[in-house]
Amino acid sequence: MKLSCREAQHLISPYLTDEISNRDCSAFLSHVEDCPKCMHELETSFMITYALKHMDTDDNFTFDIKGLLQEKIRKSKLRLQMSQFTAIVVWILIVLMGIAIVFIVFSLFFRDSLPDFGKELLEIILSAIDRTIG
Ligand SMILES: [Zn+2]
Repeated sequence: MKLSCREAQHLISPYLTDEISNRDCSAFLSHVEDCPKCMHELETSFMITYALKHMDTDDNFTFDIKGLLQEKIRKSKLRLQMSQFTAIVVWILIVLMGIAIVFIVFSLFFRDSLPDFGKELLEIILSAIDRTIG
């Protein structure tokens, strides 16, 4: 999904308050990294948000606001990668479960014509199911 500058700038505020979906976040980050104008907008908004939040209260107030923003962007990317990774793992597990179910159903129908390792595997799976259920 490619964003226009207008769309990207609408996402600055949700991004800064972490109220952005992964999908929008990913599109937003790839836009601002290629678009100096929107990156500048993001830096300015980040600076204002940060200053308002920390100026009076925080003893660790830092003026390396660009560095802080880079850190926030780095963490966002890491979070996006983790959620992609999780999605892939879940997908693989679903496929494996599908294969296992097909194998079990198939084996139950053709129990007698299975090769020995197939029979053994089926016994192992059936006793595992038995133990889990019973
Ligand atoms: Zn832009």
